Amino acid sequence: MKTMTCSQLGGPCDLQHHGETADDVINAQDRHLKEAVAAGDSAHEQARKDMKWRWIHPKKAMGWYNDMKKAFADLPED
Ligand SMILES: [Zn+2]
Repeated sequence: MKTMTCSQLGGPCDLQHHGETADDVINAQDRHLKEAVAAGDSAHEQARKDMKWRWIHPKKAMGWYNDMKKAFADLPED
């Protein structure tokens, strides 16, 4: 397991996501952003919009995914 925070994934807080793969923590971040915005947390709105944009434009967002995968790969195991 490895840990990435909301802020490492482009968000505004230090909530930790744990996962076996970069996709795990990216999906956890997506859920976290949805929940935060649904709860009225305006600080997470921009990150939520950015994440939505990436789902709509996967090719343009490939650089971000590759950066996140590399960052995840470079992390130590928990
Ligand atoms: Zn957050």
